Amino acid sequence: MIDVKNIYKTFFVPHEVQALHNVSYHVNSGDVVVVIGPSGSGKSTFLRCLNRLEKANKGHITIDGVNVLDPKTDINKVRMEVGMVFQSFNLFPHLTVLENVTVGQVSVRKRRKLDAIENAMDLLNKVGIHEKASNYPSQLSGGQQQRVAIARALAMDPKVMLFDEPTSALDPEMVGEVLEVMKTLAKEGMTMVVVTHEMGFAREVADHVVFMDEGKIVEVGPPEHFFTNPTHDRTKLFLSQIL
Ligand code: ADP
Ligand code: MG
Repeated sequence: MIDVKNIYKTFFVPHEVQALHNVSYHVNSGDVVVVIGPSGSGKSTFLRCLNRLEKANKGHITIDGVNVLDPKTDINKVRMEVGMVFQSFNLFPHLTVLENVTVGQVSVRKRRKLDAIENAMDLLNKVGIHEKASNYPSQLSGGQQQRVAIARALAMDPKVMLFDEPTSALDPEMVGEVLEVMKTLAKEGMTMVVVTHEMGFAREVADHVVFMDEGKIVEVGPPEHFFTNPTHDRTKLFLSQIL
């Protein structure tokens, strides 16, 4: 589903940083991959390169067979297939919950309004928030907003879902409700790449855990490997700091 070969990403402003250095990775359809690593290790840049929110300087990325870095590729088509959920929800503040989950279906997926609304209500039901359909984002808790953001991404029928620290901005009591929605998605077979510090989620849901440091993938393995027998000193140090 996702194939990344030898990608590099350098930022030049405010100073030169090699955010990704020769990163290669392969995600099979239906896999749940959890990416962990210290702040600044390139986790967000890696996710953002997958849907070209950042353009890798070098290397190859294909998603479901489509060459993401080819200038001839219609990137909006790629983004339709790759849903993304951010730490900071990013809902449209001037639209209701229902409108947030409907608008892309009509404007991008070209669905009829009534079909889009029906689909949106199903998805809001799925994330447990249909009773807030006519509220505005500011009237919702962080956990509720994040569940709407997930419903909005799902409304485009993506083949892949990317999550960048989806629970990091939440009060602790709201983390569980968002992780539950993500677990359900995983069980349904969604292909997911999740950057998170929630090691319980990694242990329970991940097929593979990827540890990044200084723009490189340092270590990859099933969750059992990471939590019982990590190989690299950097991985051991990182896990000792967060567990
Ligand atoms: P992580 O998500 O693991 O915390 P990031 O991918 O956000 O790491 O950042 C990796 C490195 O790239 C950091 O040194 C960060 O400061 C730098 N970086 C990320 N995004 C940008 C940007 N838009 N402009 C300049 N530097 C950036
Ligand atoms: Mg990040």
